[in-house]
Amino acid sequence: MNETEPITETQVPHLYRIELPTPFPVGNVNCYLAEGKPLTLIDCGPDSFEPAYRKLTAAFEALGYDLGELGRIVITHHHADHSGMAGRLAAETGAEIWTHEYNVPWLDRDGDLWGRRTRFMTALWRQGGVPEQVIERMLMVFEWVRQFYSRRCEVTHFLQEGDTIPLGGTVWKALYLPGHTVGMICPYQPEWRVLLSGDHLLKHITSNALIEGHDARTPDERRKPLLQYIEQLKRTAGMGIRLALTGHGEPIENVGDLIAERLEFYRQRADEILSAFEDGPHTLYEVTMRLFPHVPEPETFMAISEVLGHFDLLESEGRLRRELRDGVAYWHKIPEA
Ligand SMILES: [Zn+2]
Repeated sequence: MNETEPITETQVPHLYRIELPTPFPVGNVNCYLAEGKPLTLIDCGPDSFEPAYRKLTAAFEALGYDLGELGRIVITHHHADHSGMAGRLAAETGAEIWTHEYNVPWLDRDGDLWGRRTRFMTALWRQGGVPEQVIERMLMVFEWVRQFYSRRCEVTHFLQEGDTIPLGGTVWKALYLPGHTVGMICPYQPEWRVLLSGDHLLKHITSNALIEGHDARTPDERRKPLLQYIEQLKRTAGMGIRLALTGHGEPIENVGDLIAERLEFYRQRADEILSAFEDGPHTLYEVTMRLFPHVPEPETFMAISEVLGHFDLLESEGRLRRELRDGVAYWHKIPEA
């Protein structure tokens, strides 16, 4: 393979995209089958959703394999559309599961993950001035999503930045790219400069940096997802990536241009959000409703995440500050010097 010329998806040897349906607004999810020993799947679709399981079985057959031959599953991040079927597939095939340790609580179902998450989110939303009935509905959406998460299974191998992942007869390296979620780990082939980007980079939609505890095991401290995400976007922009095989939609062949566009989008959105403070201090919820007055109910959480991410960004730039009053955070614009 010529390493300076552009590369397309079909030129990556022994790697096949399998698009699986999901019950989520995002639509289909991309999983990738890497041939060789062990036969490996990168991401695996939601659990408790038979159309995805059927499609996966059929895709294996179309490529000349039986699902039972699966030897390993690499999971880019814990979201149900990417990790949900892991437990079922591991039980049926004996496949190993490789992922970042931050994704483990979602897979081994150890302890009270969902309870802790509910408490963490509820406290954060209350501080953001979110009305109780909206909180209730967001928790109902979480509860609905929960069924598509993996049944209990064991992560057999932890992946961190720089670790080796043999895939399709060649060596890939793990890149740790927190932002969209805190446990995002993406296989990268450094000679070809091809990235299996999970939801770190998507072609048709901006990847949302979602509110999450720093680590699902100790979610008491809030991470700043958009700041993390922008840092990782800048890092990946400097790597000369020739092809990103994404978690949803089509591959990205001009990665540098796409990242520049995304960074510009966050810059403009931050300015737009700052302008909401011309008339005085506001809560997270007030600004979210001003920006997204018609947000569909299942997407309220994402809208709130997006706005809070930009508050963090503006705060880090010294343009916004936070003041707690009776347990509710009011954000103030800092006058420019
Ligand atoms: Zn995701």
